[in-house]
Amino acid sequence: MALVVQKYGGTSVGTIEKIQNVARRVARTYDEGNDMVVVVSAMAGETNKLVALAEAMCEFPSEREYDVLVAAGEQVSIALLSMALQSMGYKAKSYLGWQIPIYTDNAFSKARIEEIQDSNIREDLHNGTIVVVAGFQGIDHDNNITTLGRGGSDTSAVAVAAALKADVCEILTDVDGVYTTDPRIVPEASKMEKVSYDEMLEMASLGSKVLQLRSVEFAKKYNVVVHVRSSLNDNPGTLVMKEDADMETVLVSGVTYNKDEAKISVMRVPDKPGIAAQLFTPLSAANIMVDMIIQNISHEGLTDMTFTVPRADFKKALKIVEETAAKIGAAGVQSNQSIAKISIVGVGMRSHSGIASKMFETLSAEGVNIQMISTSEIKVSCVIDDKYTELAVRVLHEAFGLDKQQVAQEK
Ligand code: ADP
Ligand code: ASP
Ligand code: MG
Repeated sequence: MALVVQKYGGTSVGTIEKIQNVARRVARTYDEGNDMVVVVSAMAGETNKLVALAEAMCEFPSEREYDVLVAAGEQVSIALLSMALQSMGYKAKSYLGWQIPIYTDNAFSKARIEEIQDSNIREDLHNGTIVVVAGFQGIDHDNNITTLGRGGSDTSAVAVAAALKADVCEILTDVDGVYTTDPRIVPEASKMEKVSYDEMLEMASLGSKVLQLRSVEFAKKYNVVVHVRSSLNDNPGTLVMKEDADMETVLVSGVTYNKDEAKISVMRVPDKPGIAAQLFTPLSAANIMVDMIIQNISHEGLTDMTFTVPRADFKKALKIVEETAAKIGAAGVQSNQSIAKISIVGVGMRSHSGIASKMFETLSAEGVNIQMISTSEIKVSCVIDDKYTELAVRVLHEAFGLDKQQVAQEK
């Protein structure tokens, strides 16, 4: 008998019929003799609707109330799934984050899970109950409801699997696994049989939304093997796991894009020690993650500083940066929300040169201008005009031999 954690995403529980299908799949795994904890997202589109309501109400909603609101979608889906299981004759019980409790820090809308008390769940499992847990939410130490960031149900699932030391952690979604790029953009993308934690971390942080970044961080830290697979069929999906020898033979394993960032430039800043700290400390104090940063060579003691922030935090960031720019005597602030970050990822890159230049050549052959570049051991990212996103992803995917036919030929 194994302990199985399954997570179903929004599209998999998007209608009553789909919830009934999920219930049948859960029941099947349970009938095979497993203990079951099921983590669910809100029904497809529901969280977006709640976000839109908050935005319609006010420009800068209270962070506490925002989380109370956007956590509501999962309350609906856990109850419906539990009802579906009960009407099939199974014992099932739903839990909101605070009822478990799943404790988080108090960073509203991007809270981190700190501790999961598993005694309630264990007791239910012990008496044969299927436990249905609301993804995406927790509670802080002052009893406020918190949410874990968009896509956060993946993290709830992996954290629950780690806390319960589950034997299996399955992320069931609307694709068959992790592909070499988003299959919605490149239908020729190939499914990866397995992917290392480090590659998946890069892919998730660079925009591949199939798994939320924090879920991969959790999986790596607690060594949880995550099986990403379709909720609609029994095809084996992709195992996210520790790196093994054959992963290194592939130079580039994936191409990702991220359209959720915006660029801010502070013009003609006095180039002296402490300027970067003055500029970025207020942003980090406001919990805004700055991503790529470029500082130009200075001319006559003045330099330009350009960086990217999540688009969701853009308005807040711009306001803060404009205030700081005035204080530090910069000439002005420019911004651009129409950017995309395109990246190539692969652990094999570590031991090979020429990958970055091949990426730049491929983009330039299509007339795509590169605005910013950043690299790490296993990735290269370029910021480009967002209208070229699909084109860039397609040509890079082909240039690095990732199309299905190309991969098949090599085998
Ligand atoms: P869920 O609602 O199940 O959480 P998501 O929409 O969050 O599902 O994630 C699945 C989607 O991620 C897919 O439909 C696909 O378009 C997208 N995606 C982006 N990059 C990849 C990739 N490399 N491999 C697979 N899917 C990807
Ligand atoms: N419902 C939340 C969202 O839409 C969490 C999730 O789906 O994982 O972001
Ligand atoms: Mg998701």
